[in-house]
Amino acid sequence: MSQEFDYLVIGGGSGGMASARRAASYGAKVCLIEGGRLGGTCVNVGCVPKKVMWNAAMIAEAIHDAKDYGFDVELTQFHWERLKSSRDAYVKRLNGIYDRNVNNAGITFVSGYASFVDPHTVEVNGERYKGKHILIATGGRPRIPDVEGAELGLTSDGFFEMETLPKRVAIVGAGYIAVELAGVLHSLGSEVSLFIRQRQFLRQFDAMLRDSLMEEMYEAGIHIHTGSLVRCIKKEEDQLSVCLQQEELKIKKLDAVIWAVGRDPNSDSLGLEHAGVQIDEQGYIIVDEQENTNVPSIHAVGDVTGRIQLTPVAIAAGRKLADRLFDGKKDAKLDYTDVPSVIFSHPPIGTVGLTEDEAHDQFGDDVKVYNTRFTNMYHAFTTRRPHTAMKLVTVGAHEKIVGIHVIGLGADEMIQGFAVALKMGATKADFDATVAIHPTSSEEFVVMR
Ligand SMILES: Cc1cc2nc3c(=O)[nH]c(=O)nc-3n(C[C@H](O)[C@H](O)[C@H](O)COP(=O)(O)OP(=O)(O)OC[C@H]3O[C@@H](n4cnc5c(N)ncnc54)[C@H](O)[C@@H]3O)c2cc1C
Repeated sequence: MSQEFDYLVIGGGSGGMASARRAASYGAKVCLIEGGRLGGTCVNVGCVPKKVMWNAAMIAEAIHDAKDYGFDVELTQFHWERLKSSRDAYVKRLNGIYDRNVNNAGITFVSGYASFVDPHTVEVNGERYKGKHILIATGGRPRIPDVEGAELGLTSDGFFEMETLPKRVAIVGAGYIAVELAGVLHSLGSEVSLFIRQRQFLRQFDAMLRDSLMEEMYEAGIHIHTGSLVRCIKKEEDQLSVCLQQEELKIKKLDAVIWAVGRDPNSDSLGLEHAGVQIDEQGYIIVDEQENTNVPSIHAVGDVTGRIQLTPVAIAAGRKLADRLFDGKKDAKLDYTDVPSVIFSHPPIGTVGLTEDEAHDQFGDDVKVYNTRFTNMYHAFTTRRPHTAMKLVTVGAHEKIVGIHVIGLGADEMIQGFAVALKMGATKADFDATVAIHPTSSEEFVVMR
């Protein structure tokens, strides 16, 4: 006999957890199925432990800067294992909080991996569960390329398991995860080589952001190898080497190689064929704007749908879906436009809206762009001199702001508020009419000419 529910949620990560709890708050009978640790990618091997590492890297940088501010401090030793142990304990605490949240919401929790039996039934550890509605929120996993010795490399998951700081490390990839890990490891003391297949990293981001970051990373001493396709990893004694497509190039004596070459959706072991759910050629579940698959009882949110792969997006989509299915809000859906995001690079990046190129593609010559670049006052007399750069992209006679981009100290905390203004339809005149806050970097956004 199978147990019956209003809502079966597969995946206890950002999207699944949020949707399950919202549905339960409306009185729905909910079952949440999770094969791994509650909290999913973000809590266990993503945003949360990553931000802890970034914080540590920022402290390392502040210690270097401290001398310039008159402090007699020296970075003599950094205990990676101590940081890892505190970080792991913090993540464990969060797992516990998630566990309690599920219980307190009256959700039935099932530990194990689900696969479909039919459009209303899944099986977990040999038991069957039925749902009027089923949500697939199974996220994704890091991709490992098909090259010789690939298994000798780690992924971002493996990065969080490293017991020691690698002295020399190679990171392969051009997305935000590659750039973030490179920055963290460099700031904490590793010698970092970053391998990018093309000439640029962060290709979907505004050119000003990626050019500025590349300049800062070169300046900081990260070895960036552009146009470099890694075709093998080899182990010689205890150390690794990577060989590149250009035969003559080989980087040797590495303690670790980290693949950050993209992520694949967790859709292949769900038995989707038993329910008839359609996926695209990369395995992402195809959904409409209200998160419906082609099967009326089955929905999907988050990374497994291949849209904007961020935690708050998965959460918001999951909640809107629950509002629609269990609270009668029949038009509820997430607006996927103008989603702000931050890259926790060194220095960090904040961005929302259209890039300059996208604005030109959409609006032709009706685009006016404002740029500024300066040294944050914090760095006015430090030995390290990273820059801050900002861009406003505006459209039409009223100069409606359609893109806001910033790289520099504090960008991570700056962009959220500006994203509200953009979402509300602010114009350049609205920005100009706002009195600046001095002395800050963000004031430059309201005084650009
Ligand atoms: C290194 C890294 C850093 C990141 N940093 C950020 C950041 O700073 N900010 C940000 O917004 N986003 C960040 N992200 C992205 C963010 O983690 C994801 O967008 C988010 O976790 C997606 O949520 P989800 O619910 O779609 O999937 P997930 O959180 O991945 O949850 C899916 C869950 O489903 C479970 N599962 C899979 N298959 C099954 C099955 N068959 N049965 C039962 N359970 C199953 C998995 O175990 C997992 O727990 C980062 C990701 C990575 C990898």
